[in-house]
Amino acid sequence: MSFQDKSIKCSDCSTTFTFSAGEQEFFRSKGFAEEPRRCPMCRAKRKTQRQDSNSRSW
Ligand SMILES: [Zn+2]
Repeated sequence: MSFQDKSIKCSDCSTTFTFSAGEQEFFRSKGFAEEPRRCPMCRAKRKTQRQDSNSRSW
C-alpha cells in the first residue's frame, strides 16, 4: 500500500496543511485510522493547553 501527500483543511483555523505520505505511514503504524483534522500548529497549541497523558486529539 502506498501513500500520497494529501492536503487537509484544519478544522480549527481553516489553514490547508499537507499530510505527507510519511506522516500517513506513521499514523497507520500507530494504529490511527482517521486523518488528523488540525494543522500541526493547532495540534501543538492544544497539546500545551491540555496535558492529557493519553491524548489522541489529533
Ligand atoms: Zn490549524
